[in-house]
Amino acid sequence: MSKSNVVLTIPEPNKMKLVEKPYPKIKAGYLIVRNEYAGVCLEGTRIWAKHDFEKFYGGGQSDYPDGLGHESVGVVEEVLPGSLFQKGDRVVIFQGDHCGHCHACLNALSPTYCASNTFPPKPGQTRVGMAGIQDINESESGGWAMGQYRIAHEANVVRIPDSLDFKYAQAANCSVGVGWSNQELMDMRPGSTVLVTGVGFITMGHVVAALHRNCTVIALIRNQYREDVLRKMGVEHFISPNDEDWQEKVRALTYNGQGVDYAIDGSGHPSYQEKCLQATVPYGKINFSGHIPGQSFAMENLKHIIDPGNTLMGQHDVNARDRESLIRMLCDPRVQKNVDAMVTHVFPMARAGEAFDIQVSKKCGKVFLRPQELVA
Ligand SMILES: [Zn+2]
Ligand SMILES: [Zn+2]
Repeated sequence: MSKSNVVLTIPEPNKMKLVEKPYPKIKAGYLIVRNEYAGVCLEGTRIWAKHDFEKFYGGGQSDYPDGLGHESVGVVEEVLPGSLFQKGDRVVIFQGDHCGHCHACLNALSPTYCASNTFPPKPGQTRVGMAGIQDINESESGGWAMGQYRIAHEANVVRIPDSLDFKYAQAANCSVGVGWSNQELMDMRPGSTVLVTGVGFITMGHVVAALHRNCTVIALIRNQYREDVLRKMGVEHFISPNDEDWQEKVRALTYNGQGVDYAIDGSGHPSYQEKCLQATVPYGKINFSGHIPGQSFAMENLKHIIDPGNTLMGQHDVNARDRESLIRMLCDPRVQKNVDAMVTHVFPMARAGEAFDIQVSKKCGKVFLRPQELVA
């Protein structure tokens, strides 16, 4: 019997189906990974509820209804001669393709910004993100994380120690990985005070990373389920965003009442973003790690940037230069305890619909799938 690849599809909103496809094919520079965990990201919200595919999945005009999942870890299943990897290597896959020549590749930045992944494609660009990986390899499957087997560019694959459980390694993508890399960008110093808003799995990843830096975390939060997750991590300061005195209460928790050193929003909600801009110490740093399509607030240069001396930043994904420090952090037992708190649900891929429903309910932290578990 020839090998096949069972992949997850969402043929229509709120409906999932496992589909058997041919085993992937690869060309030089790529390898095949047997996925052990896949993290639920936007698949669990926009794609599940509205069939609204993210740009890297083909971008709204998607020809890839099986284009689900960009976060996975697993075991190298197949390499070509001359590969830097061996069958059996345990690895984390970071999303997308790698051209090796662009600004992002040469500066070890996030592969999301690689010239072979940008969307919409620039003139002469022949590939787009993950959809491209399957096409360049002339493969009928393997483009994504929510399938048994996945094709990855070797430059976006990182070997992990045998001692690091896959569950913790999976936090290297859109949760702790995104938090850690954004905080490196912000130059977040140990012992600082950090405000977090819009607490979903991205913000939780930020909290895990900030606690690893021995920072004091203050959460602006309404969701009781998610507050309890942060309590398990040891976060002690919770303030409702509806509290009229929220700003005074935040300031009262900072040195000399001067404001937080860093403010992070993971939701993309404009009211939270605006609060982040109001809560910092002079010359504070603000990070936007989330976005909601079509939503924004009226930014005033003087009020939001110049008067407070604020620096705004944000990026998708994990910079390649941060991968080693990230994996080393995920080996720390205290970090693993907090990842255990953050990962509230793990489902067999055969029950992905339940995983997506839980994500929509917001009564969860980060949700993982097991792509090898095909029986409900
Ligand atoms: Zn590149
Ligand atoms: Zn993600």
